[in-house]
Amino acid sequence: MTATSPNLLVVGGGVSGLVAAYRLRKRFGAAARITLADGAARLGGKLRTVTMAGGPVDVGAEAFIARRPEVPALLDELGLSDQLVYPAGLHPLIWSENSLHPLPQNTLMGIPADADSLRGLVDERALEQIAGERALPLDWTPGSDMSVGALVGERFGAQVVRRSVDPLLGGVYSGLADTIGVRAAIPTLAEALDRGATSLSAAVADALPAPTAGPVFGTLRGGYEVLLEALSAAASVEFVPEHIRSLRRDGEGWRADPVGRVDGVILAVPATQLSGLLVDIAPKAAAAAERIPLASSAVVALALPIDVNVPPNSGILVATDATLEAKAFTLSSRKWAHLAERGVTLVRASFGRFGDAGIVDATDEDLVAAARRDLAIVTGVSDMPVATHVQRWHGGLPQYGPGHLDRVAAIEEEVAGLDGVEVAGALLHGVGVPACIAAATTAAARLSGRVAP
Ligand SMILES: Cc1cc2nc3c(=O)[nH]c(=O)nc-3n(C[C@H](O)[C@H](O)[C@H](O)COP(=O)(O)OP(=O)(O)OC[C@H]3O[C@@H](n4cnc5c(N)ncnc54)[C@H](O)[C@@H]3O)c2cc1C
Repeated sequence: MTATSPNLLVVGGGVSGLVAAYRLRKRFGAAARITLADGAARLGGKLRTVTMAGGPVDVGAEAFIARRPEVPALLDELGLSDQLVYPAGLHPLIWSENSLHPLPQNTLMGIPADADSLRGLVDERALEQIAGERALPLDWTPGSDMSVGALVGERFGAQVVRRSVDPLLGGVYSGLADTIGVRAAIPTLAEALDRGATSLSAAVADALPAPTAGPVFGTLRGGYEVLLEALSAAASVEFVPEHIRSLRRDGEGWRADPVGRVDGVILAVPATQLSGLLVDIAPKAAAAAERIPLASSAVVALALPIDVNVPPNSGILVATDATLEAKAFTLSSRKWAHLAERGVTLVRASFGRFGDAGIVDATDEDLVAAARRDLAIVTGVSDMPVATHVQRWHGGLPQYGPGHLDRVAAIEEEVAGLDGVEVAGALLHGVGVPACIAAATTAAARLSGRVAP
């Protein structure tokens, strides 16, 4: 198929779809027809910025990994480098056994290489188990996969899983160690085990990245909204506020209901919707996408009086053997210097790990009450907020369970045989915004090669 001014469709207007549309516009110029369909009333998907206490507050993703190049490079391309801000450099805490502990250092997603890293967070018995682990034979088949919870639980015990690993996986995937697989979530650990590490401690020590200077995270001064607006303007799409219901072959192109015939399509939707769109044209890929579960979560943003006494830390993660309903607090005004200037204290409480549908569907009133109750327990702050915002994210994050990479390979393999259809999105090669940008860029390059080789 050759078309210098093709008629293209992007399904899904989250960051993946917007980046894909922007890349297609850059490749084909003003003459191409690029339609972007999203059934939600707004663009952005899991990125959303609301106005609270006189300024922007992100209530979906609130940061990105700064060690990956994609976000700074994209901001630079869009003339937005002045938006880039880094955290104030404070450390996070973990709430466990009714007290606050420093987040362990020198761990891989909370998995320690030695007992010292977890001293104070777990009891003496757990520390002895970690210390003795190197001496026990390890049964790992190269190329295999298992849940992080099963691996760490067997080698180091349940306390390490619940107090050190779960809190971190709850943040990244809205998941639990038991629902997240080693190979997709911690690939460097799986590789160290494949190379023949004789214990989990040795594999972690081998896989730990060398300490680097510089911030781990970054964000946008004006919130993700600034990026969404710039991408949307630069992509100059025809926006169709509709759910795409089906996709089928139409001569050399594709027919998407209700948009009509197009030369090529990028599907940038969550796993469940992807499965529905592929079911007739790529049934194996559809079945693989259907096997990627999604976790729901909710964010309660609180604007509290300026003088409340939240600790001088960036956030608080909650151990899963603690009895709180919240899974984490971001102490936004402490974490980000630009938010400290707002005249209020901003705190984000997060709820919902895989399987916690009940709390996510609680009323706004109940979620705000739970956020305030749990914040009071962990910090002593019980002041009345001056503003609140409740944001639910149903199916917010795909669970990268054991075997996830096989499911992704099955999707990509069958879709590669569909001339003019590409897939992007958080289900593929990382849930974070940088990974979504990378996957969308790849999808757009592939589609460009197909429609105008
Ligand atoms: C609460 C929360 C906090 C997060 N925090 C961070 C963070 O701090 N840093 C970070 O890097 N990442 C974070 N993430 C992850 C990151 O935000 C997401 O993985 C990413 O934004 C997903 O983008 P996407 O475009 O792939 O998918 P989505 O944002 O899910 O967009 C998909 C879009 O497709 C649309 N759609 C679905 N079906 C159809 C259809 N049939 N037709 C048309 N449209 C359809 C949907 O309406 C949606 O808008 C967080 C996620 C959540 C939920």
